[in-house]
Amino acid sequence: MRALRDRLRLVYGAPGAESHGHPIAELVLTVLSQSTNDRNRDVAYFRLRDRFADWQAVREAPVDEIEEAIRPGGISKVKSARIKSILLAVTDTSGHGLALDWLAQRSVPEAQDYLTSLPGVGRKTAACVLLFALGMRDVPVDTHVSRVGTRLGLFRPRAPFDEMHDEMLALTPRGAELELHMNLLRHGRRTCHARRPECGDCALARMCPSAHTFEGATRRAAGAGGR
Ligand code: SF4
Repeated sequence: MRALRDRLRLVYGAPGAESHGHPIAELVLTVLSQSTNDRNRDVAYFRLRDRFADWQAVREAPVDEIEEAIRPGGISKVKSARIKSILLAVTDTSGHGLALDWLAQRSVPEAQDYLTSLPGVGRKTAACVLLFALGMRDVPVDTHVSRVGTRLGLFRPRAPFDEMHDEMLALTPRGAELELHMNLLRHGRRTCHARRPECGDCALARMCPSAHTFEGATRRAAGAGGR
């Protein structure tokens, strides 16, 4: 894993960011990111923040008002209901009102257990909150990280997402959580594409058991496209 991290660092640098300290905001942002791109997610998020004074106001608002605010982010009916039910659930269960800062005082497994007990919150969303907002040791495994990691042999083929999260955390050197997440994601977007990975130009090819195994399929797809 250290060799992989170092190789990715040569290509993409070593991304570093301080945790931002706003776990409720991260939770809502991650819900808004589902099935859309970063731009639409951000438009929806800032419309929501403009429309309501604070998270308590979002929690108390009728769902259709939340839905209207976040419409540019897509599937707004589902997301608005989810956001409201999460904010209500946090208020009911945290023992600290509508706040999640207290998670920083808990162990990572305790914090994961609490977050995944919230409605519609899975391991990826929990990992985003713990890593990006609170600087805790967790690694979000999204669609890019899961695809690249599976091709690199980090994960069992067709492993469920919870298993990939456990495996990723076990493999990641302490302190490299953000860097590995960011750089595997970048590699998935730029080189190790879902349909046509560019193995010929890939800096990881020599350490990747899947290198060049897609080329026949890629040629066949290209041939079919030319007919
Ligand atoms: S060699 Fe190919 S399959 Fe392996 S990481 Fe690079 S692009 Fe992905």
